Amino acid sequence: MRSVVVVGASLAGMRAVEELRAQGFDGRISVVGEEPYLPYDRPPLSKAYLMGTCSPESLALADEPALDELAAEWHLGVRADSLDPGTRSVRLSDGREVTADGVVIATGGLARRLPGTGEERPAGVHTVRTFDDAVALRADLEDHDSARVVVIGAGWIGAEVASTCRALGHPVTIVEGDTAPLARALGPTMAEVCTSLHADHGVGLRTGVGVESITSSGFGPWKRVTGVVLDDGSHVPADVVVVGIGIRPATDWLAGSGIPVDNGVLCDSGCVTVFPSVVAVGDVARYHGPRGPVRHEHWTNASEQAATAVRNLLAGTTVEEYRPSGYFWSDQYGVRLQVTGHPADAEEVTVVDGSPEGRRFVAEYRRAGSTVGVLAMNNPKLFGRLRRQMRAGTAQGSGV
Ligand SMILES: Cc1cc2nc3c(=O)[nH]c(=O)nc-3n(C[C@H](O)[C@H](O)[C@H](O)COP(=O)(O)OP(=O)(O)OC[C@H]3O[C@@H](n4cnc5c(N)ncnc54)[C@H](O)[C@@H]3O)c2cc1C
Repeated sequence: MRSVVVVGASLAGMRAVEELRAQGFDGRISVVGEEPYLPYDRPPLSKAYLMGTCSPESLALADEPALDELAAEWHLGVRADSLDPGTRSVRLSDGREVTADGVVIATGGLARRLPGTGEERPAGVHTVRTFDDAVALRADLEDHDSARVVVIGAGWIGAEVASTCRALGHPVTIVEGDTAPLARALGPTMAEVCTSLHADHGVGLRTGVGVESITSSGFGPWKRVTGVVLDDGSHVPADVVVVGIGIRPATDWLAGSGIPVDNGVLCDSGCVTVFPSVVAVGDVARYHGPRGPVRHEHWTNASEQAATAVRNLLAGTTVEEYRPSGYFWSDQYGVRLQVTGHPADAEEVTVVDGSPEGRRFVAEYRRAGSTVGVLAMNNPKLFGRLRRQMRAGTAQGSGV
């Protein structure tokens, strides 16, 4: 293999480039990225960057010397419009074509939107997926002192945005369709803990209710959001609305390529698609795990997956299976939450150290006598130990 094109210039794409070099590939690497920026880190966008406590420069995933060392060609601000896996040609939105011996798909995800919050949305309606999104939200909050913020969706990013907006002094209401925040991910007991975190900080929470429409006033470029109508008929006034209802994998550009796509790019256990010279990594990759096809939307996965995908790409076949370390974190309201494993599969959850009320604890999720997940709040040390133990158990076949 003499050349590789990486499509997607974010965390997973960057790690793929690093892995190619680390694994001895000395051929040509081209990277295609729709955003006009070199790879940057997204987690601070809903936290420190939105808060105004970190600079854009500090978001960079690599400094100049490190990038020079990688000796890759960066095609930024240009979209991959299609892929022909037979010739491994990627057609770009500016009419150019990049052809290589191998392809890494690292196109991540796009923020999901509600009707009325797409291109035609009124001013004041935001998502937080990209740097440009975060810049726009931050500017809007700065321009509208004590703006009332409604966050739609109480998932990880919704909760973080709510927490940051609250810390900035804005009145915040979260609207969540489920019965409690993160109820499916963490189970009802720990969802209650998340509910109380929001309440502690004076964030209003409307659960079990969907969004019917967005209201606005003005017209043309002066049209601005005024609130959110819920499906129980109530109206929540808002000056700023943040839609945090998850992502959809960025696979549209693969239409007609022959690469199977179903809620992500379908891959085998080593992140290899039906074409051995095309692999997928990060939020877009739906690989075959021990429990069936799975796709993760977390930093650690996007960071780790490239090692396996690149090894298999360079080998021309699947010589290694991907085993995620299965870890993610969230910072909200001054606490750090850390999760590993599959809490959603558990039959029971037990606090094994500390207390939720004290905002420092570790909880173990168990099923059929085995630990299947761990959740910690402000207790990284014990979390780390239990995580290692759980992984050791997994390696012996307990099935996480
Ligand atoms: C606000 C925010 C906070 C987060 N906080 C946490 C956290 O606290 N903990 C945690 O574990 N995870 C967190 N995450 C998740 C983590 O950042 C993602 O899992 C990670 O960014 C995924 O990396 P990726 O490279 O797979 O995809 P992405 O980061 O989505 O990057 C994909 C890139 O591909 C580009 N692209 C898409 N289509 C094309 C195309 N056709 N042609 C060219 N380029 C294309 C996109 O523009 C994008 O730059 C957070 C994410 C966000 C948005």
